Amino acid sequence: ERNKLKRLKSAHSATLDDVEISLEANIELPQDIDQVRAVDAAGVGLFRTEFLFMNRDGIPGEDEQFEAYRAVTRAMNGKPVTIRTLDIGADKTAGALERGERSEPNPALGLRAIRYCLAEPQLFLAQLRAMLRASHYGRMRILLPMLSHVSEVDQALAMIETAKRQLRDARIKFDNDIQVGGMIEIPAAAIAIGSFARRLDFLSIGTNDLIQYTLAVDRTDEEVSSLYDPLHPAVLRLIAQTIRVCVGAGRPVAVCGEMAGDARMTRILLGMGLRQFSMHPAQLLEVKQRLLTSDTRLLVQQIARLLRQDEPERILEIVEKINA
Ligand code: PEP
Ligand code: MG
Repeated sequence: ERNKLKRLKSAHSATLDDVEISLEANIELPQDIDQVRAVDAAGVGLFRTEFLFMNRDGIPGEDEQFEAYRAVTRAMNGKPVTIRTLDIGADKTAGALERGERSEPNPALGLRAIRYCLAEPQLFLAQLRAMLRASHYGRMRILLPMLSHVSEVDQALAMIETAKRQLRDARIKFDNDIQVGGMIEIPAAAIAIGSFARRLDFLSIGTNDLIQYTLAVDRTDEEVSSLYDPLHPAVLRLIAQTIRVCVGAGRPVAVCGEMAGDARMTRILLGMGLRQFSMHPAQLLEVKQRLLTSDTRLLVQQIARLLRQDEPERILEIVEKINA
C-alpha cells in the first residue's frame, strides 16, 4: 500500500473531471523541507515560524530568522513558500517571550499571534524584515494568523510597509510585490469574510482553531475531545461560506488545518470549491489518491445537500456516501 502511494508522487494532481488541485505542505522547522520534497508538494502552504522561537533560550534575531526563511525558500526552487508570522501564545509558548509576571486568565482568548506581534512592534518588525530579505531568493508569501478585526490587517500591512522602507533605506533587496494573506480561523473572520478578502491577496482557513473557537472546545483538552467535531453543521457552513466568498472575490483560498490532510474530508472540501490544500507531508499522497478518483461536478451537488442538513446523523450518512 505504501509503495502504491509512493508511485502517486509524480501523478498529475487533478480530479477525474480535470480540475487541477494544488497540494502543499505544512512545516515547523527548515529541516522538514526534505519530507516536503520527497512527496513533491506544490509548495509550502504553511511555515509555522513560532517553532523557531520555542524550546530554546532567548529568541532568534533577525539574521538567524532570515537564514531559516531563505533556506526554505531556496530549497523549494521557485515553488511558493508561505511563511506565517509568529503565532505564539495559548498552547505554543516560548519562555523568552513571556511578558513579565502577567498570567493570562484565558490564553486561547488572549494576547496570541497577530495580537502579540502588534503589541511588540520591534519583534514584529524584525521578523517582517527577515521575511522580506528572504523573499529575494524565491517565491515567498507572508501569512498573518488569528485575525478577528480588519484593523489588525490594516496595522500589519502598515508594519510591512515600514519594514520595506527600512530595507530600502539600507539598500537591501526584497520582493516589493510580495503577497500578504491572512488566516481565517476565528468565526468572526469567517462570517465577515468579505472585508478580509478585500484587504488581503490570499486567504488560508485554519480549521484547527476555527473548530475550537466555533464550538468553544479547547483543541488540547482531552476531556472534551469528543465534542471537537469537524462535521458539525456550523463548522461546515463557515468553511463553505469562506471558500465561496473568496472564490467569488477572486482571492486564492486554501485550507491549512488538519482537515486538509484528512482523506475523509478531501471530497467535502473539493465539493465546497476548494482547490488548494496544505497539510503535513506524510498525508499528502493519501489525499492525492482521493482527489484523483473524485469528480467535482458530482460533489458540488452532494455538498449542497450536505450543507442544508443540520442533523448529525444525516450529515454522517451523506459523508459516508460521498466517500463510498
Ligand atoms: C489552524 O488553526 O488550523 C492552523 C493551521 O494553525 P495552528 O494549528 O498552527 O494553530
Ligand atoms: Mg491556528
